[in-house]
Amino acid sequence: MMSTQHSIAAEKFQEDKKQASWHNETLWFVREKRDRMSKSLPEWEELRTIAEKIKLHSVSNLDIYLEEFSKNAEANGVIVHWAKDAKEHNDIVYDILSKHKVKKLVKSKSMLTEECHLNPYLIDKGIDVIESDLGERILQLNHTAPSHIVMPAIHMTRQEVGELFEEKLHTEKGNSDPTYLTRAARASLRNDFLTADAGMTGVNFAVASTGEIVVCTNEGNADMGTSLPDLHIAVMGMEKVIPDHEALSVYTRLLARSATGQPVTTYTSHFKKPKKGGEMHVIIVDNGRSEILTNNEHIKSLNCIRCGACMNTCPVYRRSGGYSYTYFIPGPIGINLGMLKDPHKYTDNVSACSLCYSCNNVCPVKIDLADQIYEWRQNLDSLGAASSSKKMISLGMQFLFTHPTLFNTSLKFTSLINWVPRSMAFGLKEWEEGRSLPKFAKESFTSMWKKGKIKTIKKDEQ
Ligand code: SF4
Repeated sequence: MMSTQHSIAAEKFQEDKKQASWHNETLWFVREKRDRMSKSLPEWEELRTIAEKIKLHSVSNLDIYLEEFSKNAEANGVIVHWAKDAKEHNDIVYDILSKHKVKKLVKSKSMLTEECHLNPYLIDKGIDVIESDLGERILQLNHTAPSHIVMPAIHMTRQEVGELFEEKLHTEKGNSDPTYLTRAARASLRNDFLTADAGMTGVNFAVASTGEIVVCTNEGNADMGTSLPDLHIAVMGMEKVIPDHEALSVYTRLLARSATGQPVTTYTSHFKKPKKGGEMHVIIVDNGRSEILTNNEHIKSLNCIRCGACMNTCPVYRRSGGYSYTYFIPGPIGINLGMLKDPHKYTDNVSACSLCYSCNNVCPVKIDLADQIYEWRQNLDSLGAASSSKKMISLGMQFLFTHPTLFNTSLKFTSLINWVPRSMAFGLKEWEEGRSLPKFAKESFTSMWKKGKIKTIKKDEQ
């Protein structure tokens, strides 16, 4: 059976047993915190249902809400742009930055800019781009991508961060104390905040009725990055729009609890208009989202509020790490988004799911993640991506199950399999590794039943 890129990378991740088990336990700890926090709200399930409905309503009426949002944002003095794809998004950002002669841009974390590969694009054009979220900054110094959407550097040990900071920020040799390292990062970032010409943020929610954007961070970096420079560029996927403050109140209660088990994100910042004498731009990006809108089986993917809960709970993600997935967003939501982006390029991720359905149960906006993954698996053959050995086995089973005489005869010989080496019996060496096979009985249940060997339990014996 063919190994997928995911399974090969996962095996590599598992080579460092200590780190792999730390990764698993840490994310499970966050998942448990999320459970405790959610259970402290008796109306939790009701909130999830409302959140799902609001999102489905908003994405089904995107034309109305986006127009309302942009009209109100413009009335507040914000300049609104529309980008059909990643290239247009990057070009608009560069155009604004070059008009303002920006040499240094300070960013707060945005998965959309990862999606559009904005950083390398701007760096190529000579703009100094500084990530201001601590985890993102660590990864930027390390020249690597996020492995989680909320805790981007969760795969790194503090010792690794200590060594990185020694080299890049000239911290004390061998000092990997988290407080010391955080202070060192803060001192270096403070200088970047003070010298940046522009600030960029992502958007967690765009409120249509007021034209404001809401950004949630735990470090206050979005506020620092936008308070000092005169230019603020906010970038958002078009599905981020919600109707009003009432809807917002539902999501702010769900987001932090689902993400990190906090009652609320430390900073929930509302940006409504440019600072005095400054400029604020909002770029609304499609980049394939309008196509998802027309896809009934997968439309719910647009509900995602990027809390990361599905990753924290996923037994495969926790044990294989974010880098084992080939799409830039890992875990259950990443599998689906990757397939929606390019089903041929990202099929390998579809196998990274045990179909335990835990993701469905924790998702604050009730996305049917596991059902969607199941759906993708059913369609692998039509994508030309089904494993040939699995196809052969399925055909064999189909033949056997539709020929009762052959089926019953073969049942008589199944116990012989107990004596045959497994790799010879099935020829599925890779699949068999790590899986145990049940012992086949000498006689089938059907045959025992027919011979009257099965004792029926009478009602009064039960
Ligand atoms: S799919 Fe659900 S659980 Fe996963 S990140 Fe999105 S909102 Fe959170």
